[in-house]
Amino acid sequence: MPPRFFIDQPLQAGEQLSLPAGAARHVQVLRLQPGASITLFNGDGAEWLASVTQMGRSDVSVQLGARTEVDRELALSITLALGMPANERMDGLIEKATELGVARVQPLMCERSVLRLSGERAQKKRAHWQGVASAACEQSGRTRVPQIGPVLSLPEWLASLVAAADGARWVLSLRDAQPLQTLAVPASLICLSGPEGGLTEAEENAASEAGFKAVSLGSRVLRADTAPLALLSHLALSAPENR
Ligand code: SAM
Repeated sequence: MPPRFFIDQPLQAGEQLSLPAGAARHVQVLRLQPGASITLFNGDGAEWLASVTQMGRSDVSVQLGARTEVDRELALSITLALGMPANERMDGLIEKATELGVARVQPLMCERSVLRLSGERAQKKRAHWQGVASAACEQSGRTRVPQIGPVLSLPEWLASLVAAADGARWVLSLRDAQPLQTLAVPASLICLSGPEGGLTEAEENAASEAGFKAVSLGSRVLRADTAPLALLSHLALSAPENR
């Protein structure tokens, strides 16, 4: 498979294009030569095969071929809202959640969250995580890039949700919760998962009032970055794929 690159701009079959700096650097690192094939996508559900026409010192020009619709999305739409784990664990989580097919990630600050972000720092982190998601799409072959939401507190996020007509709502819980394997795979899901210190009882009650069903992943306590990935793996492998 030719190397894949995410380009955040409209693309048109047949056009000549100068690659943005990030993609151009990657092409340089791969030492591709004029005539080499690459694949471009911009997140709208399609791919373009492109041919390198010119390699400058830092700029790379390509000629786009035809637009091909490519659907590698899960048959169910999953929004993952989670108490952000600290350090590079959030990067790893976004990378792997993207590979597993998540549609949207909502970073949350909960009562026991270690990582607290606001203002410019929060915006920079969001942009960084969006880049991690794009890179994971390049690697995994997805043509739609999951959206990373703005950092919100749990109460802010719960208040922003519209009435529960739109699919299932689950909160991953170590309290009295229904085992995941007894639940049918929903067509659309918003799933809340706690931070390193877990969700407080008051937070789980607030989620329950907003229509979230408590769901168990078993008797072992999983890390804040493991629990959502276990859920996604289960759903991704249980859901019928779009083929
Ligand atoms: N000591 C914390 C507690 O008791 O809540 C542990 C929190 S755990 C590291 C982080 C989050 O992962 C939890 O808030 C929960 O959402 C989820 N989680 C971890 N293990 C789980 C399990 N076995 N079933 C359901 N959710 C789980």
